[in-house]
Amino acid sequence: MISGVINIKGKVKGKNLAVISGVHGTEICGVAAIKNLLPNINIIRGTVTFIFANEKAIRDKKRFVDKDLNRLFVKSSQLSSEQKRSYEYQRARELKGILRKCNALLDIHSSATPKAKPFVICEPRSFKVARYLPFSIVSNGWDKIQHGGTDYFVNKNGGQGICVECGYNFDPSAIKKAKSAVLSFLKYFGAVNGRKLTVRKQKLFTVKKMYMTKQNFKPAKHFKDFEFVKEGSLIGFDGGVPVKIKSDGGVVFVRGRTKPKEEAFLFGTPGKL
Ligand SMILES: [Zn+2]
Repeated sequence: MISGVINIKGKVKGKNLAVISGVHGTEICGVAAIKNLLPNINIIRGTVTFIFANEKAIRDKKRFVDKDLNRLFVKSSQLSSEQKRSYEYQRARELKGILRKCNALLDIHSSATPKAKPFVICEPRSFKVARYLPFSIVSNGWDKIQHGGTDYFVNKNGGQGICVECGYNFDPSAIKKAKSAVLSFLKYFGAVNGRKLTVRKQKLFTVKKMYMTKQNFKPAKHFKDFEFVKEGSLIGFDGGVPVKIKSDGGVVFVRGRTKPKEEAFLFGTPGKL
């Protein structure tokens, strides 16, 4: 038994699914959604494993204790010795055993930014299930530029890794969205009965590049997620040097950074599904 992991088996054989919350301890949205769903959930087919991922960070109301858990689902040889000394490294090792075996995963995240835009992150192999999740934006391309998330790990191991960003942490509608996403995900893969799946109108956004700081980063203004930026637009300053966009597209997660080699923002292009 691994702590913070609840395994429910249906009577009929089916898919091996996982639903994760609290990879970042402050993102209480998914934690609340799962706690809310668990008492009444009726898994009829396959196995569903519900996971409260970064248990210590959830308890301490911190994003993480030592290191970002969401970057540790890679081979140990790709991690620094500092990462390997972390509490999160041990936790990732425990959870990898579960994720390696799962056919599909839903990882629930939320944001510290009020008015954060909800969206789905998945690769083309999961576009079909994403259509039924309650989000208007589907974003792909993340596996190529940001390694070490649970969805990345599941994709690497031949499953379908799906991550949902549900909006602002403390917005009750984010919890509602998360619950709806979990139930639709479970229904799609046959684990639950009695829910009607609705096809959503969605736009695609493909991330192409992650801007890593050379020294630090100060955004030129507040950027909304997926905000359109024209070729040559100023996004911010790195060590005082202007950082401009080389072609038309959009930006996601633009944030101030104080150190070198930190993730400052993502650039991508909109498209059709
Ligand atoms: Zn998160």
